[in-house]
Amino acid sequence: MALEHDLTAAAELLRTAREVTLLAHVNPDADALGSAVALGTALRRRGATVRVSFGAPEEIPETLRGLDPDGLVVPARDVPPTAEVLVALDCGSQGRLGRLADRVGATTAAGGAVLVVDHHASNTRFGTHHVVDDRAEATAVLVLQLIDALDVPLDEHIARCLYAGLMTDTSMFRRATPATHQVAARLLAAGVDAEALAKELVDSHPFAWLRMLSAVLGRAVLEPDAAGGFGLVHTVVYQSDLEGLRVEEVESVVDILRTTVEAEVALVLKEVLPSRWTGSLRAVGKVDVSAAAARLGGGGHRLAAGFTAEGWAGEVLASLRAALDEPVLI
Ligand code: MN
Repeated sequence: MALEHDLTAAAELLRTAREVTLLAHVNPDADALGSAVALGTALRRRGATVRVSFGAPEEIPETLRGLDPDGLVVPARDVPPTAEVLVALDCGSQGRLGRLADRVGATTAAGGAVLVVDHHASNTRFGTHHVVDDRAEATAVLVLQLIDALDVPLDEHIARCLYAGLMTDTSMFRRATPATHQVAARLLAAGVDAEALAKELVDSHPFAWLRMLSAVLGRAVLEPDAAGGFGLVHTVVYQSDLEGLRVEEVESVVDILRTTVEAEVALVLKEVLPSRWTGSLRAVGKVDVSAAAARLGGGGHRLAAGFTAEGWAGEVLASLRAALDEPVLI
């Protein structure tokens, strides 16, 4: 019921907004960017001036470019300091906006509204309005509810953006409820070409990807006693592994690692700068990896979480091992 109320308040806010800035999290994925472009497109159809952006990288990741055929996305440097309405999508905390995080305080100080639309359990509710539901499979599902509340008809472009988020956040519908498929059915009926979209978003890689996988998977380590005896499998991706590859290519590594039956938890440590790392954690279903990520200053979902850390790879692994030592069980 609380969500119903929040949805009504958010729709009310968006219905009268003339100028809306929509922000995805840094290094946007298909759910963050697809949600932002879908809602932005719906608001534009209603006559509002909209822009979509994200704190980093400078440009839209190559695989996601097809989600913005109308050019709603602007570089972060072109996002004005304040907005009438600022919408943060798929961001569990203000920090996930990266260099655009300051727009939240500036907007509220100037009398504007900040709407947070998200499905992370760790959401800190940093806005003035919230549509936050950790039972939603994707932020895209919440955006569809907002679009329905605004009475904007689904068209192929909006549906495609939402399907992109739903498909990827459910690991290609591996995690799905009857409601997930009902949402998917509506989006497909609006004209989405699911096969072409899957090929574009997840099933296309340059040849150099094979070499990277071979090196990175070849150095994977299994620690059966780690994570409270549930098992940990991990590997490291160095900057040198990624030459000639797009940033999104590395995401595939954790999806392969997490299939290891001897390990409940999978970790990929990616070197983003010398001595600076991002960690991607996945769990099968017993260990809450968002709790372990939180111990390292990160966050996320129970079965998929992340963090950033400094030091050499062995040190970061040691602190992660310690954070998983007495795992929070689901
Ligand atoms: Mn998401």
